[in-house]
Amino acid sequence: MDKRPTIHPAREPGGQAADRRYRRVLRRSWRPSVGMRHAAALALVLAAVLLTAPRAAAYDRPALLEKVAATFALRSADVRCPTTEEWVDDPIWGTGPGVSRAWGYTEMIHEYIVMHPALCAGAMAVSDPGLPLWQRAVGTLVLVHEAYHLRHWASRRSEAKVECQAIRHFTAGAQLLGASPELANELLPFALAAHQRMVTLFREYRDPGCKLPLWRLPMTP
Ligand SMILES: [Zn+2]
Repeated sequence: MDKRPTIHPAREPGGQAADRRYRRVLRRSWRPSVGMRHAAALALVLAAVLLTAPRAAAYDRPALLEKVAATFALRSADVRCPTTEEWVDDPIWGTGPGVSRAWGYTEMIHEYIVMHPALCAGAMAVSDPGLPLWQRAVGTLVLVHEAYHLRHWASRRSEAKVECQAIRHFTAGAQLLGASPELANELLPFALAAHQRMVTLFREYRDPGCKLPLWRLPMTP
C-alpha cells in the first residue's frame, strides 16, 4: 500500500497498482496448493467460491446516493456502500501495519465510488437529527468529492481541484440529499472543518485559489 497518507484517494496515480493488487488477492484465494490431490483442490476452490461470493455482493448501492452523485458527475454513478466487514477487508488498502484507510475512494479504472459505511449512513440520513452533524456533513462532502472524480472533466485526477469543487458545491449536495437550505447551512461548518483538516494534513488536496463558501450566521434580527 502507498506509504503516503491518504484521506479519500481517487486511486490515482496508484489506481492501477491497487487494481493489480486486488486481482492478485482474488487469484490467490482461488489457487490450490501445488501437489494437492484433485479432490482436495476442488474442495478448496469450492470453499473459495462460497467464501468469496456472498462478500462480493454484500454492499448496497443506495439509489439516492447514486442519483445525487450522478448530478455532479454528469453521468450515471455507481456508488457502493460496503458493510463494515467489507470495508475493513477491502484488499485495496493492504494489510500491513499503519495502513491508512480513506473516507472513500473512486476506482478510476472501472469507475465506481466506495464510501466508508459511516459516511454512507450520514449522506443517506442528512436530515436525521439522530445522527451527529459531522457524520451527515462529511458523508455529503465525500459523496460530492468522489462524484467530481467520476465526472469527465480536465481536473478529475487533481485532488485539489476536485476537493475545491466538493466544498463549493457542498450545500447544493446537502439539499439534493434532502436538507433544507437552513440545514445545509448548519452542516456547512462541519464540512469546512473536514475540508480544512484535509488540506492541512495532505498537501495534494490544497488549492490556494479555491474560494470557500461562507457560513451564514443563522441569527435574527
Ligand atoms: Zn479524491
